[in-house]
Amino acid sequence: MYRSNTCGDLRASHINKEVVLSGWVHKVRDKGFVIWIDLRDRYGITQLVLDQDRTAMALLEQAKELGRETVIQVKGKVIERTSKNPNIPTGDIEVLVTELQILNESILPPFTIEDDTDGGEDIRMKYRYLDIRRNPVKNNLMFRHKVTMEVRKYLSDQEFIEVETPYLIKSTPEGARDFVVPSRMNEGQFYALPQSPQTFKQLLMVGGMDKYFQIVKCFRDEDLRADRQPEFTQIDCEMAFVEQEDILNAFEGLTKHLLKEIHGIDSQDFPRITYDDAMRLYGNDKPDIRFGMEFGELNAVAQHKDFNVFNSAELVVGISVPGGASYTRKEIDRLIDWVRRPQVGAKGMVYVKCNEDGTYKSSVDKFYGQEDLAKWAEVTKAKAGDLICVLSGNTNETRAQLSALRMELAERLDLRKPDDFAPLWVVDFPLLELDEETGTYHAMHHPFTSPKPGQMELLETSPGEVKANAYDLVLNGNEIGGGSIRIHDKDIQATMFKHLGFTPEEAKAQFGFLMDAFQYGAPPHGGIAFGLDRLVSILGGQETIRDFIAFPKNNSGRDVMIDAPAPIDDEQLKELHLRLDI
Ligand code: ASP
Repeated sequence: MYRSNTCGDLRASHINKEVVLSGWVHKVRDKGFVIWIDLRDRYGITQLVLDQDRTAMALLEQAKELGRETVIQVKGKVIERTSKNPNIPTGDIEVLVTELQILNESILPPFTIEDDTDGGEDIRMKYRYLDIRRNPVKNNLMFRHKVTMEVRKYLSDQEFIEVETPYLIKSTPEGARDFVVPSRMNEGQFYALPQSPQTFKQLLMVGGMDKYFQIVKCFRDEDLRADRQPEFTQIDCEMAFVEQEDILNAFEGLTKHLLKEIHGIDSQDFPRITYDDAMRLYGNDKPDIRFGMEFGELNAVAQHKDFNVFNSAELVVGISVPGGASYTRKEIDRLIDWVRRPQVGAKGMVYVKCNEDGTYKSSVDKFYGQEDLAKWAEVTKAKAGDLICVLSGNTNETRAQLSALRMELAERLDLRKPDDFAPLWVVDFPLLELDEETGTYHAMHHPFTSPKPGQMELLETSPGEVKANAYDLVLNGNEIGGGSIRIHDKDIQATMFKHLGFTPEEAKAQFGFLMDAFQYGAPPHGGIAFGLDRLVSILGGQETIRDFIAFPKNNSGRDVMIDAPAPIDDEQLKELHLRLDI
């Protein structure tokens, strides 16, 4: 028997008990006549003690030699500590060691296995198995387990069935590139790894499964933006015989359950906002509503004066920054420099200080009087003491720029509190999105999303205006889930493919199986998928998803621990028909 207890178990109630513990040597404190060893495992740390009076000399000598991270097994008696440590659950006791056996030595780890480690990100990723021994990483993985267990519990209680769908499939279009896998047995042919189980979950609905979920890996070969992983996990869900309202209710229920079980929060019903309103009020389809600073559109009150920059702009829009009137000239200049950075891309910024005495001081006083500026303050809901920041230009770009500024200022003003949770639904997404470069439309969500009832006709005349039965769940400025009501009619699906630029042959070749299935009594259905990695990190009060993944990839998509991706040898290439010249 390796152990009678774990290193997190023992309390004062165990005093005088003979125990066997196994674990890693976390730390050795050698005072000569007495040695303390912190023994660590997943469950905690227990202090071991050996001393001249009570321990055999040979054992004491052996203990002195123990290096950090050696794996040992000890036998001993639980005794009361003279100086207790209230900071750890086992702090009232220690184990007086009578036998010690080394189970495995450890060479010197490349960084210290402590909560605050001296190891940088790269070295920790290379030795991730050592990093996982550290509390912050270990706790995140345990937290993730807790969240996934709650998800499984809640959904199975609601009669969802977890069904596994294949990983070696044909392309599912979610807007990214596929990872492909060559087929040895079918020369020149390739599987694609699923970007999501989208088509399979729809086929499960045709199969009558009615309520499906799966905690599932998805693969997208994208240029890695910060904090994206080429493989990531979704809580993927689908339901039959549902309208949008049913889906929103079901998954608002799941999210409320998680907030309650994880954080003890009783949530109100989640607010809903249309995509158009989200763009108008926050310049963003995933607004962080933990704080206000909503956009005020100023065209009506700022145009048709002598200020040409505004007159020629499609949109003039501002936000009020709480307390910003006290910013110095230099601070405001720095803010202007910030919006002019290429990453943000604004040409400049107009500002208005709303002085405590009710007067206004702006960077455009030459063109606007106090009465004009009072109207700006009204529209942006600025109070005395606030600063109004105004950007102008092309609508989409200006909104994106002001949204970036809003988030930056909220960060600086400490308004994005990690333990505050502000979920909301964004609904009525456009069905199609214009690709500015090619001038063609593609599905904003995916090609299986159904247009809102009665909008199919609009597809011919003004495709950009068609709204979809598509929705996102947003939490603290992050999209944590997204889904839609699907098309379940073969002809409508065929029409949709046509509008997306597929020839009938292409549509048949790629998605014939789905349209065929629709001919056999496909029920109305819809669903949603949550990004589990992000959901867990937000619930955990942190921003980086890497910290909640056991073995993440770095920003170049590499696993630096196992050193993947890696070349394969010529023999393998040949077998896979990838090299024909050997
Ligand atoms: N398959 C979609 C996605 O991965 C989610 C859904 O529509 O259910 O975003």
